[in-house]
Parts: sequence; C-alpha cells; structure tokens
Amino acid sequence: MAGNVHSTGYDHPWSCTQCGVCAAVCPTGAIHQQPRRHGYVYPVVDAGKCNNCGLCVQCCPGPRVVEQEERFPSPAEERRLYGPFETAFLAHASDEQLRWRGSSGGVVTALLVHLLQSGAIKGAIVTDAGGDRCLPRTFVATTVDEILGATGSKYCLTSIGQAVRALAEMPEGQYAAVGLPCQIQGLWKAEQQLKWLREKIGLRIALFCAGTRDTRYRSALVARMGLREEDLAEFSFRGDGWPGSISARTAAGSAVRLESADKWVRQQFDISARIPPRCLLCDDPLGAFADIAVGDPWKLGCEGDRAGQSLAVLRTPRGNEAFARAEQCGSLATSRELGKSEVAVSQEGILWRRYYSGGRIKLAALWSPVWREARKGMPAPRMVDLLKAARILAVRVIGPGQ
Ligand SMILES: Cc1cc2nc3c(=O)[nH]c(=O)nc-3n(C[C@H](O)[C@H](O)[C@H](O)COP(=O)(O)OP(=O)(O)OC[C@H]3O[C@@H](n4cnc5c(N)ncnc54)[C@H](O)[C@@H]3O)c2cc1C
Ligand code: SF4
Ligand code: SF4
Ligand code: SF4
Repeated sequence: MAGNVHSTGYDHPWSCTQCGVCAAVCPTGAIHQQPRRHGYVYPVVDAGKCNNCGLCVQCCPGPRVVEQEERFPSPAEERRLYGPFETAFLAHASDEQLRWRGSSGGVVTALLVHLLQSGAIKGAIVTDAGGDRCLPRTFVATTVDEILGATGSKYCLTSIGQAVRALAEMPEGQYAAVGLPCQIQGLWKAEQQLKWLREKIGLRIALFCAGTRDTRYRSALVARMGLREEDLAEFSFRGDGWPGSISARTAAGSAVRLESADKWVRQQFDISARIPPRCLLCDDPLGAFADIAVGDPWKLGCEGDRAGQSLAVLRTPRGNEAFARAEQCGSLATSRELGKSEVAVSQEGILWRRYYSGGRIKLAALWSPVWREARKGMPAPRMVDLLKAARILAVRVIGPGQ
C-alpha cells in the first residue's frame, strides 16, 4: 500500500499502538516519535523526507486486524481465538530469588538468561525502569545483569521502535524480543518486510495484555506513597512474590510499598481515561504473533502460592524448543501442562475481549475509515457487546481525568 502512516490515518490515537516500529523501519528517517502529555508518544511524518514507499504502513500493527487471518489460515473459530497453540505450562524460574522478583513466576527472565548464557542469543529486547524518573525504557540488553534488571511488568507506555533500530547496528547473530502483543505484532510485520531483521530475531516473547496505562497511573501511585517522582531512584510495579507489590525507593533511601491487590490500587488501575485509546480496540491480548506468550496464572489454583507461577503458552516449534531446553538445563521448572480449556478459564476476561473486539471496532468504524476497513472479516458483535463498548468508549472520551 502506498502512502505513509500519517496519510493513511494509521497514526491516529484510536489506531496507533505507539510501538514506534514505523519510525524504526523508515529508510529515509522521515518518521520520529513525538512525546506528548502523560507519556503518549505518537509518530510524526516529515512529508518532505517521505518517498511514499509504504514500508511503515506495511509494518504497522495499528488497525490491520484482518491480517491476522493471513497468519492463521485455518478458518476454525477456536484457532482464531487462541492463535497458534502447541501447548501450555504452569512454570517458574528455578532460581527462587528470580522467581520471587518476577511478575508472576519469572519465566520470561529465566528463559532469556538461559538463552544468553547458552550462546543461543546475543541479546534481547527488554524493558527496564531505567528511563527518566524510573519510567520504562526499551532497549537491547546484551548482559545477564541487564536482563535481570528488566525483570517485572511495567504498566506504562513504552515503544519498541528504538530498540528495533538499534538491532540493525548490533553484531550478527540471533536476538530475542520481549514485548506487548501489539509490539510483537509490529515486529513480526517488520520481519516479513526486512530480511536482516528476520535473520536477527530468534525468538519473540509476548506478555498477555489487557491494556497498558499512561503515566498518570504511575504518578498516582507515587503520590499515594508520599514521594516525588523526581526523587525516585527505583520504582517497581510488580515483584516480591505473587501477585506482588508496588515498591519505590528514593535516592535519600526512603522505601515505600503498596500491595497490588489493594482496593485503592485496583481502582486507580481501572480508570479508563488512563488507558491509551487503541487498547480499547485491541483484538490481540494473548500475543498471537509470538513464539511464546506469557501471563499471570489467574484462577488456576495458584492463589496460595506466593512464590509465583507464570502461564506460558508455547505457540511455535521454536518457542517449544527454547522452552524445553531451558527446562532441561534446569533454568525453568514446570509445575504442570495446561490444556486450552484451562488457559481459557484463566484468561476468560481477555479471551472474551478478543472475541468481541468486533463490537468496539464496529463503533470505532462509525468515525474512522481506517477501522471501517479493519472490521471486515471479524465476528459480528452481539448487541450486549455494542452497549458495553459504547459505555467504555464514552467513559474514555468524556470520563474523569481527561
Ligand atoms: C502492560 C502490561 C499488561 C499486562 N496485562 C496482563 C493481563 O491482562 N493478564 C495477564 O495474565 N498478564 C498480563 N501481563 C503480563 C504479566 O504481568 C507478566 O508480565 C507475565 O506473566 C510474565 O511474567 P514473568 O514473571 O514470567 O516475567 P518476568 O520474568 O518478570 O519478565 C518480564 C519481562 O517483561 C518485559 N516487560 C515488562 N514490562 C513491559 C512493557 N510495558 N512492555 C514491554 N515489555 C515489558 C521485561 O523486559 C521483562 O523481560 C501484562 C504485562 C504488562 C507489561
Ligand atoms: S519513506 Fe516510506 S517508510 Fe518512510 S514515511 Fe515515507 S512511506 Fe513511510
Ligand atoms: S507502526 Fe506503531 S507507532 Fe507507527 S503508526 Fe503504526 S502503531 Fe503507530
Ligand atoms: S491492549 Fe496491550 S497489546 Fe493491545 S494495543 Fe494496548 S498495549 Fe498493545
């Protein structure tokens, strides 16, 4: 498709995931990510530098939902819902300290450390809290310490683009990439277009995702802790067992902790106005474009297990192989294998969200030609879902905190 992400409308807040892949792949450097309020970072195209090659549009995960059908040619509804699925496990890092520090069971970090130490990868795209005021920063880690430093989920906007661009300059060899499903989808699309990237990415790991948050969520947490963001030396959204706690430390040494399960924290997390608009239309919460997708083991009898477990869906042969090797070498321990029905029980909320994303997308199509195109081929929405979608979208547009 000719045109760029601006002329096609892909850069609109309702379509753009802010992944930054367009800026990373543009051969003329015509795109940069422009920071806005509350941590939003949308692309800006310099029309004078653009030659209309269309590469940014081809790599954009924004509104091209129908393209998922190209990846999952099976018409079976089940396959459409889960994405590629070889098997799934409840698992955890064998290193008990890492398991305790991980978001759920530390599986992602344990796997990356194993791959690096065994020489299977030269590095990995990860997200640590090393940005300004301890906000997230996505980069290519090449040491075990850097990978360990990125342990834990960051419920805050971040782009994968700069790390993808940095990969071009990195030594030959294979690299892993960890990201949210939209970021992994952008990476997958870019790999289809760019041979050098396809050759460098050895493993894609996605985190399950029901939506990220803008910086107002983090600001509210820090204020509740009685701290100032400019004084932070460390900030962590997860860790310290499962489901874990939120912790911060200032340069002066004050340390404060909030429980993730605390009612006030949950309320702050649920404020719709802090959810990026595109997340409300997301139809890939389970990371269908990854080799391995990992999430929390909700409703799987892990409630009393404070040490933590991760739910890992192995989607492709190379995902399966990497996971099995890490287990054989003792980096990972699996507790038990899970069938699709157990994954469905655990992730019921986001599976329904995926199934009925058509309702929200249909509403978005009323005002967006980009989404009008994308909704073709999606399951018809139920009336109840249209009503729910209308409520969510109304809260996002006119709700508190805008
Ligand atoms: C914004 C967000 C929303 C999520 N929503 C859900 C959900 O609805 N349901 C669910 O079951 N699970 C969700 N998860 C996934 C879950 O929180 C854990 O990340 C997952 O279970 C893996 O845990 P782990 O202990 O194996 O990973 P760890 O060993 O703790 O490693 C985490 C890895 O994630 C990477 N990472 C952290 N934050 C980000 C980020 N913002 N963007 C890109 N990469 C990042 C780090 O680089 C690190 O390598 C979400 C995660 C995030 C970041
Ligand atoms: S030069 Fe190509 S990749 Fe860059 S903005 Fe223009 S269309 Fe997009
Ligand atoms: S590639 Fe990513 S950042 Fe660029 S327009 Fe698409 S979704 Fe937005
Ligand atoms: S819900 Fe998650 S995967 Fe979907 S667009 Fe938002 S951040 Fe990306």
